[in-house]
Amino acid sequence: MFSQHICSSNGCNERAVWGADTCLAHVRDIEQYTENVKEFLAQNTSFSGIHISNITLSDLDLSGKKYSYCSFSHSSFSNCNFNNCSMYLSFFDSCRIKQCNFADSSFRWTVFAGSLIHDCRFGDSSVLRSNFNGIEMKNTIFNGSDLYSTRFIDSRLDNVGFENCNLLRVHYEFGELDDVSFRNSNAEEAFFDKERIEE
Ligand SMILES: [Zn+2]
Repeated sequence: MFSQHICSSNGCNERAVWGADTCLAHVRDIEQYTENVKEFLAQNTSFSGIHISNITLSDLDLSGKKYSYCSFSHSSFSNCNFNNCSMYLSFFDSCRIKQCNFADSSFRWTVFAGSLIHDCRFGDSSVLRSNFNGIEMKNTIFNGSDLYSTRFIDSRLDNVGFENCNLLRVHYEFGELDDVSFRNSNAEEAFFDKERIEE
């Protein structure tokens, strides 16, 4: 389950981040803390219940790792390799994610809501019952993926590929879709009509 320790700084109600007794804003040496996080992520293969929000991470090889009940909310990831990873009930909401590789991976109940996702790859993945609501996504592909019951409600998608995908019960209502390809996918089984949002 999730760690719910509260920041020890006087009057602060934020959750404490992994490896510290304060939230990130009250960590004394953020540079050193970021190095500790990078080392921890690089040296382990499986993570459960960790909370590391507001962190900036770049140029990391995080491939082949398992994340369950992990929260990286409000963080920034650039040029990170999450290839062949497994994510279960984990949070990447309100993040800025650029040039990251999530291909050949398995996602279940994972939340990317409110994030900006540019130039990323989610291809050949299983992305089940996950949440991309309210995102801004550009130049990103899901080609060859199973997206069963995943949601892109009220999201802006620009140059996004959903080719050769399973789109059964995928929700795209209230979105702005520009240059989105559904070639060889069952888009007729996805929901686009605002009237059906209540279903
Ligand atoms: Zn704090």
